[in-house]
Amino acid sequence: LFIDHPLATGQPVMLEAAQAHYLSGVMRLRAGEVISVFNGRDGEWSASIIEAGKRGGSLELLEQTAPQRDPPDLWLLFAPIKKARTDFIVEKAAELGAARILPIQTDFTNSERIRQDRLQAHAVEAAEQCGGTYVPGVDELVPLARLLDGWDGIRRILWADEAMAGPAQTLAELPAAPWAILIGPEGGFSDAERSRLTALPFVTRISLGPRILRADTAAVAAMTLWQAMLGD
Ligand code: SAM
Repeated sequence: LFIDHPLATGQPVMLEAAQAHYLSGVMRLRAGEVISVFNGRDGEWSASIIEAGKRGGSLELLEQTAPQRDPPDLWLLFAPIKKARTDFIVEKAAELGAARILPIQTDFTNSERIRQDRLQAHAVEAAEQCGGTYVPGVDELVPLARLLDGWDGIRRILWADEAMAGPAQTLAELPAAPWAILIGPEGGFSDAERSRLTALPFVTRISLGPRILRADTAAVAAMTLWQAMLGD
């Protein structure tokens, strides 16, 4: 369970109604049972349920059971698509160990707005599901051009480009660096965006194979490849 609270032995933690309902109504846990909690900073802790009901509840923190693991140094830049598929991308990015998720506005992006708080809640849920000790932050929507203007170039951008001919570059040959995977919108990038990305020295293009994938599939495929080759 994710709790936004400092973790220390003996400390009581008050639960929000939704968290208490998750423990009692969904997981069918009762007072006295022990669960795992994390806050994204202090590793994994065991905690005993003092009370969990419809209106809220509380826990008592017991001890640290696993140290904090640093998130892998991978970001995901993607252009939001339809609501359910954007939710899917955020959920899978959290599962696949993205440390930061940046929704971007591109020339052909359909969504002008996102519900950042909802997407962040999806990231929390996904991190809880897969037993992570950190939750990736989900940024507000930012125009790609502005993001590139301020990019420091130390973090390299891995641009999944369907127009890239030939087999995928071996990811194992990529320089060891912090990376950000870039996935375009359903309509792809505009010519202007393609020219700019191609000219930037810190951008590397990769192919995900000969088939054109939907943006959500491409995001999952690229993050899986990266984790398989470069994740630790
Ligand atoms: N521009 C294309 C078009 O309209 O025909 C399709 C864009 S594709 C649906 C959405 C995004 O997924 C692309 O911008 C790219 O980042 C990624 N993508 C899809 N297939 C890919 C592939 N085979 N290799 C690399 N990236 C791919």
